Amino acid sequence: MMTRREAIKAVALTAGALAVAPSFTQGAAADSSASSSTYPFKLADLGYPYDALEPYIDAQTMQIHHDKHNGAYVENLNKALAQAPESIQKMSLEELLLSLDKVPENIRTAVRNNGGGQYNHSFFWKILKKNDGSQPTGDLAKAIETTFGGFPAFQTKFNEAAAKVFGSGWAWLVTDGKKLSITTTPNQDCPISKPNDKESPIVGIDVWEHAYYLKYQNRRPEYVKAFWNVINWDYAAERYAAASKA
Ligand code: MN
Repeated sequence: MMTRREAIKAVALTAGALAVAPSFTQGAAADSSASSSTYPFKLADLGYPYDALEPYIDAQTMQIHHDKHNGAYVENLNKALAQAPESIQKMSLEELLLSLDKVPENIRTAVRNNGGGQYNHSFFWKILKKNDGSQPTGDLAKAIETTFGGFPAFQTKFNEAAAKVFGSGWAWLVTDGKKLSITTTPNQDCPISKPNDKESPIVGIDVWEHAYYLKYQNRRPEYVKAFWNVINWDYAAERYAAASKA
């Protein structure tokens, strides 16, 4: 019987393996190993053009968000780890975030914030794809139906959660391997780092102002509404399948 921690690690490995399989030919496949790679970390390619999500998320926002914001998280994560013992440097991003208590105290906050930033954004770039109004299918659709009473009810709850994040953070659809739920994290905290209730992300939205301010200014609900047009349900389904098998 695997512990939940081991199960989450297994999910990460499976998800990585799925994403690099030859059948998965989308450009984003190349950066799939973000969570299993080790120091020094790299900013992965976005995997699609900056304007691929127009008009819902504008090209300038995508460029600054990916190159500058995600870029800074990677740079600062590496800076923090440069002074860490080799045993810590050898840990994957996933391992670091699952075991923040093992990270030396003088760099723990930097690893939590910047490692979390790298993990969350690597996931975010992959969950984004213009979907022409499509909805989830298969097992994920069934689970959403069972858990929330239908897709529109799920959308309402997710929108509310995303709107209510105070300040900077994220809203997520997650699974603990058995059931779906909606959760939020402050700053760059990850669902996988939650001490008592570790969860794998299936869908996630960045509600930091840097994710939407150029186009939507203070109107976060409009950005959250537009987000439904750019969710890659195929990737969400892969994540859900991997998490459910673990
Ligand atoms: Mn961001």
